[in-house]
Amino acid sequence: MVDEQLVPRGIVDPATLAAMRQVPRHEFVDDAMGSKAYGDHPLPIGSGQTISQPYIVALMTQALGLSGREKVLEIGTGSGYQAAVLSRVCARVYTIERIDSLLVRARKIFDRLHYLNIISRIDDGTIGWPDEAPFDDILVTAGGPEIPQPLIDQMADPGRMVIPIGSREVQELQLVQKQDGQISVESIEYVRFVNLIGSHGWAA
Ligand code: SAM
Repeated sequence: MVDEQLVPRGIVDPATLAAMRQVPRHEFVDDAMGSKAYGDHPLPIGSGQTISQPYIVALMTQALGLSGREKVLEIGTGSGYQAAVLSRVCARVYTIERIDSLLVRARKIFDRLHYLNIISRIDDGTIGWPDEAPFDDILVTAGGPEIPQPLIDQMADPGRMVIPIGSREVQELQLVQKQDGQISVESIEYVRFVNLIGSHGWAA
């Protein structure tokens, strides 16, 4: 997966590549999908949701430019795979999921694999996690119509956020940076994510 899908497409960050080699992706998909776990595509995880394509997980992780010391907020735990990858390249991951059954399953996998630096909760992630803010980095793994203001407010300064923004069907993956109180936004590439549903996202 790493040598054929990630390196040739420009994933070069050593920490990201090491995490993608280390985290057992097959643990995060249903047994019936196990043989497809390392394929170059997203996979269904139930409740109409998906585990992202390995390249997209690596691209988003690399874009955060992590050093290993950061406190990172992820919105959209889903299978738990992206949180697991993040947990290998930063100090602590806070992850929020809105669908109870998905979080219950992801928590069991975190426990089984002893990923002890992942803290999770059920909530509308578009309002962030105010009690634990600020976050050095924020990663949103569902696509919304605009950048939720609570997430901008909860970014550290300096801080980074990677988030897909656009229509319900297609989005631009954006790198949002906060520096000296100023916000800048760069486009990374076009992506297709499931909808970010919540008070600062799409209606259900
Ligand atoms: N990071 C996930 C993984 O590695 O499997 C990707 C999961 S999927 C692409 C996006 C997830 O975002 C879904 O599980 C969905 O339920 C969740 N989601 C959508 N809107 C949300 C919100 N407002 N708050 C929290 N989770 C949300």
